[in-house]
Amino acid sequence: MKITRLEVFVIGDGPEIDPDKGGVEPLACVRVHTDDGPTGLSEVFRVPPGVVQATVGGPETHFDRLLIGQEVTHPERLWQRMWDAFMHTNRRGWEIIILGALDVAVWDVYGQMLKRPVWELLGGVQRGPFQTPAGEGTGITPYCTLVSDVWGGEPMFAQQVSRAERLAQLGYRAFQVEPMMSSPSDVVELARRFRKSLGDGLTLMVDVGYLFHDVPTAARVARQLEELDVFFFETPFPVDSPAPYAELAARTSLPLAMGEHGVTRWEFLDLMDRGRVSVVQPYMTTCGGLTEAKRIVELARARGAMVCPGNWSTQILGAATVHLAAYSPVTPFIEFAPAEVYESPLRRELQAAGFPVHNGAISFPERPGIGYDLPTDIATRFRVA
Ligand SMILES: [Mg+2]
Repeated sequence: MKITRLEVFVIGDGPEIDPDKGGVEPLACVRVHTDDGPTGLSEVFRVPPGVVQATVGGPETHFDRLLIGQEVTHPERLWQRMWDAFMHTNRRGWEIIILGALDVAVWDVYGQMLKRPVWELLGGVQRGPFQTPAGEGTGITPYCTLVSDVWGGEPMFAQQVSRAERLAQLGYRAFQVEPMMSSPSDVVELARRFRKSLGDGLTLMVDVGYLFHDVPTAARVARQLEELDVFFFETPFPVDSPAPYAELAARTSLPLAMGEHGVTRWEFLDLMDRGRVSVVQPYMTTCGGLTEAKRIVELARARGAMVCPGNWSTQILGAATVHLAAYSPVTPFIEFAPAEVYESPLRRELQAAGFPVHNGAISFPERPGIGYDLPTDIATRFRVA
């Protein structure tokens, strides 16, 4: 089986749906076509669609020159072929994210060729019930990222807590509150309100979105969050320097989490070794694809760290995330932006086409490849370029 064509198309909710309320901004998707029929799909989160269109899907484009005509083999070979071509370019940023998306699409094709789900080909299940949050089976547990239209104070508390209540009624079991752009006391108060309304039985994460600039303030907040059984404390500081993370890790028992922007295993090594981050959060495309994510799992495992993959994008990317989690023995949770509480028709339809969440968990996929079928009519109705 050979790769014959790379295709790029762009979908989105359109300008009338506010991205701050969950609207999907123009999102480039890639499809890898083969001479034998199977095609592989991925999305390219956070890369301007024009950049993807300029480098994928045309006869003289950078990635077409590397992949067209190539035999579909183990994806690691094609990953290395693309990576080696970056020797004298930037080897980070948009380039690696596009490589990552193509790698996911190649895994999708490879799985279909071998008639096996991708998680089996990554190495099979290496987790047991004792590696899931409550020891309740081997499914994948999504944690719901909650946002609000407003930040700080009562309106933020009310919105995020009521969304969590609604999702808990639907069976979701893990939640991440997001007190962005808020005062230190509001961060603690939101976690407190969550516990007060939803009790102690559910898992709670706190993501402050790079809120702090000094270690003492973050340490004071972390100490108060320790009382509220917080599973991890995400991105207290900007991500460019791991040093404050290491300082904070020495002062709190809360596991620190970061990695949503992390590209390549080298950045994740730095987060874990210099930053003492014990929960890393690769996006399956941004980090450099499933091939790179598997390496990150191995590095985390050797260090006693967890991998809780990030995904604030759609369930096209979410499908790839599920395969990594099914394989990984150090992944109790994956991030999930539940369409039920976002004002995005596209997000809703893409989630409905993806792997269902039953009683707060996603079963291991059984279909060959990634197994996400993008309904043609969604791609047509939401196409923006
Ligand atoms: Mg985050």
